Amino acid sequence: VLSGGVLYACRAIIFAFLIFVANDAASAQQRAPTENGAYDLAITVTEGGVSIRGSWSLPEGAVQGQTFEFLLTRLVVRPDINVWCGPSVIGLSNLSGAPGAGDQRWRAELEQSCTGQSVVVRFAYALNGVAAPQLRTSATDGFAGGFGEIWYPQLSYALRETGRISFDAPQDLQVIATGRGGRITANGRARFNFEINTPSKLAFAYGPYRTRDTGGVFPVRIMTLSDGAGAERVRDTIARSIGPLIEAFGPPPVHSLAIVDIDFQSPVLGSSEFGMLFVDRSQMASEAGALDYWAHELAHQWWGVSLRANPRSPGATMLTEGMAQYGALWAIERAQGEEAAARYRRNGARHSLAVYSQLMARDKDTIALAAFLAGDQSETLLGHRVATSKGALVLDLFAREFGRDRFHAVLMRFFSGRRGESASWDELEQALRSEFGERSERFLDQWLHRPGLPALSVAWQPIPGGVELDVEQLGQVYNLTLPITLETVHGSITRTLELDRRRYKFTVHAPETMNVIIDPLAHIPMTAPVLVRRGRGLRRRSEAASGGARGRAGSAC
Ligand SMILES: [Zn+2]
Repeated sequence: VLSGGVLYACRAIIFAFLIFVANDAASAQQRAPTENGAYDLAITVTEGGVSIRGSWSLPEGAVQGQTFEFLLTRLVVRPDINVWCGPSVIGLSNLSGAPGAGDQRWRAELEQSCTGQSVVVRFAYALNGVAAPQLRTSATDGFAGGFGEIWYPQLSYALRETGRISFDAPQDLQVIATGRGGRITANGRARFNFEINTPSKLAFAYGPYRTRDTGGVFPVRIMTLSDGAGAERVRDTIARSIGPLIEAFGPPPVHSLAIVDIDFQSPVLGSSEFGMLFVDRSQMASEAGALDYWAHELAHQWWGVSLRANPRSPGATMLTEGMAQYGALWAIERAQGEEAAARYRRNGARHSLAVYSQLMARDKDTIALAAFLAGDQSETLLGHRVATSKGALVLDLFAREFGRDRFHAVLMRFFSGRRGESASWDELEQALRSEFGERSERFLDQWLHRPGLPALSVAWQPIPGGVELDVEQLGQVYNLTLPITLETVHGSITRTLELDRRRYKFTVHAPETMNVIIDPLAHIPMTAPVLVRRGRGLRRRSEAASGGARGRAGSAC
């Protein structure tokens, strides 16, 4: 059974990945501009659907000679394109579109060379109303995501853009788009204007929305279609997750957030946009109170939306999915307490140790997260699952072992130095190493530069005045500080065992011990330990901490 939230995240990844392949080739032929340029987009919604007119000022040097390539969705009809070099319009001798992986690559052949001149492309087209996973338009509602189908002409999906989006729509429609702005008139038609000054990917949604606004330093707008079931709870859950995320990552990279109810009509259940979360209507109600879901998606505003992973760089999934889920783990601990966070780490329906173990029962973990580079879609999905379970749990352990505040300080510095840009996971590891030294290097090596997790077997037996423990690392050997709790007739005693080789014998003073619990708060990412009590023939697999493994673990997507 696919759990919705996981599907959401995974699907978004699939499409980003697909488009990426198409774009690498296209952008390689250009002279590596750093942005797609500036746009002025005018979008009109009528009974016939959506049409878009615009001008696009290309970055300097983007057009060399007499040909010019760009990407634009195959859903356009009647594209009309004029290329201006400096003051004059240059005729097109040919305009052709060829399907790429997910998008259409267009090639314009010019009658004269444009080298050395400023180039503006003026264009107009209609959208055909066919639903693509992240683009769908009709007379009454629709949306376009920034990370899916390419709906304005672009040099490369990997680059960002600035400019303006204006909307002209029937009066009963509400519109939201990337940037700052809103409704400007209300006479007969609804007009909206949005200014994009921070380089972003552009997105919009329109429909008969009902909007609810929260005030405060970080305003949140909830936009719902129909009855808006769950909207109040969504708002409250977002409010609880924002504080912990600011503590971990610093001030939000966007000035406000809109949660937008979208009827995706596709397998996609959501997408993260600059300052917006597009959420399928099915999720708005079912996930309304799920702190992990909203905190994860909100954390993507920092990791994935504002700061992007370098294209096809090793460990990219950790920088986006691993970090977003670390944000969710921290939000749960901060907002719901240590015990709730421990239960979630061990047995949560999404991204927990139980989910990781289920996954590994099917697919062997062959992923060294820090070096991982997906070769195809199924690897992309597997990498996503391992980064959001093991990867996030490892970051959480790092925070515990090296100090949460100092860890967060490094993340904040790293993020603020690279917001709006791209980075690699290796750069973040370097920042951690330079703050925390050699011990952190060993930590990162053993947890993220090789696949798998620790597997322990612990045998214990009562001896006079205490217990004797025989601990064995069954798989790869880790340096571990392992907490154990000894339940005695006089109460509980917690100790830590320092492990750095395969086998150890420990003696712990704890008279009249009845039970041993390994890692009671699920701090250590590891597979469920084999716990054996000697001298009674009793053998069982540890469900470890209080409460045991009662919660149902949802399968990962
Ligand atoms: Zn995610």
